[in-house]
Amino acid sequence: MEGPEGVSQDAIEDIAERIWGFRTLRPLQEPAVRAVLDKRDSLVVLPTGGGKSLCYQLPPMVSGELTLVISPLIALMQDQLDGLRLSGYPAAALNSNCTDDEIADTYDRLHSGDLRLLLVSPERAVTSGFMSKLPGMGIGAIAIDEAHCISHWGHDFRPEYRRLVELRDRLPDASLHAYTATATPRVREDIIRQLDLHEPEILIGTFDRPNLTYRVLPRVKAADQIAQILARHENDAAIVYCMSRRETENVAESLMKRGVNAAAYHAGMDPEKRRRIQDKFTTERLDVVVATVAFGMGIDRSDVRCVIHASLPKSIEAYQQETGRAGRDGLEAECVLLYSSGDARKWEQLLQRSAYEAGVEVDPKQLELLRHMRGFASGMRCRHRTLSEHFGQSYENESCEACDICLGEVSEVHDATTVAQKILSCIARAAGQNGSAYGAAHIADVLRGSRAQKILDRGHDRLTTFGLLRDIRRDAIISFIDQLVDQDLLARDTGEYPVLILTEGSVEVLRGEREVTLLSPPAPAKRERARTADGEEPLTDLQHGVFDRLRALRRKLADEQGVPPYVVFNDATLRDMVRRMPTSSESMLEVKGVGQAKLERFGEAFLDELMASSSG
Ligand code: ADP
Repeated sequence: MEGPEGVSQDAIEDIAERIWGFRTLRPLQEPAVRAVLDKRDSLVVLPTGGGKSLCYQLPPMVSGELTLVISPLIALMQDQLDGLRLSGYPAAALNSNCTDDEIADTYDRLHSGDLRLLLVSPERAVTSGFMSKLPGMGIGAIAIDEAHCISHWGHDFRPEYRRLVELRDRLPDASLHAYTATATPRVREDIIRQLDLHEPEILIGTFDRPNLTYRVLPRVKAADQIAQILARHENDAAIVYCMSRRETENVAESLMKRGVNAAAYHAGMDPEKRRRIQDKFTTERLDVVVATVAFGMGIDRSDVRCVIHASLPKSIEAYQQETGRAGRDGLEAECVLLYSSGDARKWEQLLQRSAYEAGVEVDPKQLELLRHMRGFASGMRCRHRTLSEHFGQSYENESCEACDICLGEVSEVHDATTVAQKILSCIARAAGQNGSAYGAAHIADVLRGSRAQKILDRGHDRLTTFGLLRDIRRDAIISFIDQLVDQDLLARDTGEYPVLILTEGSVEVLRGEREVTLLSPPAPAKRERARTADGEEPLTDLQHGVFDRLRALRRKLADEQGVPPYVVFNDATLRDMVRRMPTSSESMLEVKGVGQAKLERFGEAFLDELMASSSG
């Protein structure tokens, strides 16, 4: 097929294959590439992991012209540059980390016409020195990465971005292209206006992430639940998000005690320690980071297999961004939210406090965002559908097969009102004449008919409610108690012990004046059903062994090159290698993600390792 400027689709695909080892382009990559080749301004909105970089990296290799890329994070710039260098792609960067020699070398390469991509931080791009050099550089296109930084409505406004429109005045013949993962129409309009894009091609991708499996669990015992979930992802990269700094430290400590390779990360730690943890995570020496939301920007590890929220995020936008860090390589990943409605109250209090301190009213928009998030967590609708619709996109599939609802893991308890009445009346009876109060575990044991000494000592085996819920799992009863608290049908004492106290709501339920809905928590989790964006089969145990060997080799090679492991090859490439077990350079080139330059650099080492694995 011929494009308007005569560049065939084959020519584009050939380059994608030769340099990156990609045999097909992802949705919208082709039109996005073509917009650059046609010198037509564009706005490309693709979700995290959607493959935006290729949209601006590929065209210069077809046109032979230089593209100037504005990129806000120096750490990501360096990773991108390392990856391109290993793929034999002529690229360079100018930022505050560059030495004078490096800068001089980059300008030499610019003058000799050797470069195809120049990555620059926004701060440097708007200096008068840099601006004055622009016209002589032979720039055909300008790519603005993370373009939402230009908008006040985005979550990451940067004032320098506002001045980027000046680049256009200096380079009237270059086309301007903006890339972002932020989908809201307001941000989109702002980008187009602020950058003065001329009749742009607007390409908006699908926001659904089919390779992510979403689950929401009632929070019962967070530390145990987190450990259980992580056990499904042994040796994999995972991020656990917590609401407070203290919580990150407690959770990290409890995980370490259980032998998990975990560390806490939050803004209160000294920068050096934070950098060490980030480095260890990036170089695969640390599996689990337990963090506040401060962790994530600047992390480009694409093989995060699990993101856990230990409490409710403040908006669906934040949730989408944080869970978006899972499975960027397109392979399956799990996102679990541990939910207790008390979290929403905590957020409301925080909002009220900061509004009070600022002497203003609480922003109703923030409360609305919180309400949407709460609706997502307590809702019984397909999670993929709910998220897609929230971002204004319809969801076509009947069942996503990748959320707790569609997998049938969550169901409403039959006759929940009666179950609730049994629980509440057990609490009332245990209180007896003297009004003693007990915790959820004790009440659950009485309802299960346990003959533990502490129950016999108190004579609770003689209560009429003793053994009334014998057929229900202990953790399920505890979850029901928690759900009743969430619904204000029961309360926990805020004093020294979180003992249970009946409320007005409890009385209404006991009198039969109120219906109750309860959800069954899922049975103890089984191993995650593997599911990838391309619908590939999971690896067998034997193949996993080979995969682990390749991963170790990748780390060794990455150390030698001084780059993060995923820059050598990502997990999708290693898995494809394990499936194909190539024995020659030709068959190695068939592997997804192996291009010519990386074949020459790493092919032999991986072929040797594969040979060694297959012979024992
Ligand atoms: P974004 O910037 O949109 O978050 P990236 O450009 O970092 O996404 O790409 C995400 C991952 O997808 C990377 O590991 C990249 O190598 C991979 N990728 C991009 N395009 C393709 C493709 N056409 N085929 C296979 N993998 C791809």
